[in-house]
Amino acid sequence: MIPRLKPHLDYREFAAMLRLGGPAVEAFEQAFAAKFGASHAVAFPYGRSALLAYLKASGLRDREIVMPAYTCSVVAHAVALSGNRPRFVDIALPDYNMDLDRLEAALNERTGAVISTHLFGYPLDVNRLQEIVSAAEARFGTRIAIIQDCAHSFDARFDGRSVSKAGDVAFYGLNISKMMTSIFGGMLTTDDAAAAQELRAFRDANFRPASLAKQLMRPAYLLAAHTAFSRPAYRFVYWLQKSSSLLDRLTRAYHLDDEIHLPPDHLDLMLPVDASVGLVQLSKYDEIIARRRHAASMYDRLLRGRLPWELPPLIGGSTYSHYIIRVPDRARVMREMASRGIQLGQLIEYSIPYLPAYRRCAGDEEFPVSLECSTMTINLPVHASLRDSDIARIAACLVEVAAQI
Ligand SMILES: *Cc1c(COP(=O)(O)O)cnc(C)c1O
Repeated sequence: MIPRLKPHLDYREFAAMLRLGGPAVEAFEQAFAAKFGASHAVAFPYGRSALLAYLKASGLRDREIVMPAYTCSVVAHAVALSGNRPRFVDIALPDYNMDLDRLEAALNERTGAVISTHLFGYPLDVNRLQEIVSAAEARFGTRIAIIQDCAHSFDARFDGRSVSKAGDVAFYGLNISKMMTSIFGGMLTTDDAAAAQELRAFRDANFRPASLAKQLMRPAYLLAAHTAFSRPAYRFVYWLQKSSSLLDRLTRAYHLDDEIHLPPDHLDLMLPVDASVGLVQLSKYDEIIARRRHAASMYDRLLRGRLPWELPPLIGGSTYSHYIIRVPDRARVMREMASRGIQLGQLIEYSIPYLPAYRRCAGDEEFPVSLECSTMTINLPVHASLRDSDIARIAACLVEVAAQI
């Protein structure tokens, strides 16, 4: 069975875990900053922890933090738990990002920051985002931080410029389901030396070393994830997943959609083992992204005009964290593809302001595009280990399924 995602691992990650020694976390921070052209990088146990720490360290409290209605719910959780209020903006198609035509109306004198995503790797128009935010700062006489959520878009480019550079800070998720992984982990980058220093001081005062048990379990976790996503094992894992929530727990870092909550270890320091795996993955980043872009352009060539459904935009600067298609009967398409040995993903099957925990902060505002996407999106496998023949087979099966439905 072809899994919906697969971390791009080989013996090198496992060797790196066993070769521990030296300040691996600092080395990973420096290499990460250098790779993505930032002056500073600060490591965390999760991407959401990086966001939470930044909001707290920069003194934002009781403010509105503007964010898209359609994104990973953990972003809203971090905002809410930082003592601020999420303020949602509906998204726009075809790129699934915040609708910039609606952003201006969401900004006011209480706005502390805007978090923009480049969801699924598709870059937002960051030039326009910066113009809208600057105009609001001038109008309200306040400072509004721009935070780039680059969990899907490490080095995605708009107009030739990395989206991570358009604003104050960018944060990244590094769990096993992301484009590159440090087993778990998160990172925040910035060119602002004072902000980096403040954040580092906040982290070192408020985060604690992880338990020895957690450290010892890491190699087993990585091995389990590696094995679980290998082809021979995947049929079994798929069956297991249908009958239990094991794989969900492995890949989603146990976030609960109906409760404002962060994992119990969200204030742990990044583990050195995680950093050593991250360092190896960083050296594979270019290859991983090139293979994802290749998969996306093959899908575009094989599927465009041959499906009654909406394909994602073909954008040179996209990182294709996910190749998204909108279909009317998602469950049926996924079932039909699974019976042909192909697992599709179903990422972000909710719209945050419609989750019970957030309905209150959205008032009676509606987010129709986000709501519709939450019921229609599926994603095709684009992981770096796919062969061209796999991609061709997935595309052919999808055309066949579309003709039947
Ligand atoms: C994964 C993800 C995050 C957070 O990363 P964690 O490391 O899981 O906390 C943030 N935003 C988006 C869009 C994500 O997919």
